[in-house]
Amino acid sequence: MHMDGKNNLLNSVKVVLVGTTHPGNIGATARAIKNMGILNLALVQPKEFPSDVATFRSKAAKDILENAEVYESLKDAVSKCELVVGTSARDRTIPWPVLSPREAAEEMHKSSLNGEVAIVFGREDRGLTNEELGMCNLHVHIPSDPEYSSLNLSQAVQILAYEIRLAYLKENERNEDYWDVDLANNEQTERLINHMDELMQEVNFYDSENPRKLLVRVRRFFKRSKIDVMEANIFRGFFATIQKKLK
Ligand code: SAH
Repeated sequence: MHMDGKNNLLNSVKVVLVGTTHPGNIGATARAIKNMGILNLALVQPKEFPSDVATFRSKAAKDILENAEVYESLKDAVSKCELVVGTSARDRTIPWPVLSPREAAEEMHKSSLNGEVAIVFGREDRGLTNEELGMCNLHVHIPSDPEYSSLNLSQAVQILAYEIRLAYLKENERNEDYWDVDLANNEQTERLINHMDELMQEVNFYDSENPRKLLVRVRRFFKRSKIDVMEANIFRGFFATIQKKLK
């Protein structure tokens, strides 16, 4: 992470591109974010990287490409992030909190006071999988024309990066969202959800019903709740005590 001294929205944001097919889009993304003062780029299984095409399209943002982190999975890319925002060009089956780019930038600003935040973009042809969207705390949709809703990847990045910049410029002095305990990061929240699932299975909580929907709802609850580390530990301690009694 680029942390020159103080934590701010721009140096706390990490732009994550998942499964990008066209290296030109990676280069155009590097330029789009650097123009807005965002320096951290992460790539999950890019089809072609490093690439001359990407370097050419990045213009004066070659340093962004040189410093880009490359990951095997989205889970690895965001495990240390407190807030993970997913982007989606269309509606999905189970509703998740969906914000506008402006609202999302505001949320990212609040979380950046406590730690790292990620904004995740999908594949050119099919976006993010439902599983990947399920790893996100909230979703953002650029309100494009529903008849043709999907933007070019790097142009979608540009719109979000611009909103993040506006939020940064507006909010230099505001810190009313300070929280006394660190918020649970993605990895800690995932462990909590798994622990709850384990306990639900041990008491046969969802044997007869449709278990998949139930788990998605449980997951959605924890993802949107901004749970902090101490709260997560209380839940896990409680689950562990019940499990011990059951044995
Ligand atoms: N057919 C794909 C479109 C992917 S477009 C789909 O339906 O998901 C590639 C990426 O650009 C998306 O994954 C998303 O990250 C971004 N994107 C494109 N249009 C968008 C929009 N209207 N709102 C938010 N993100 C968008």
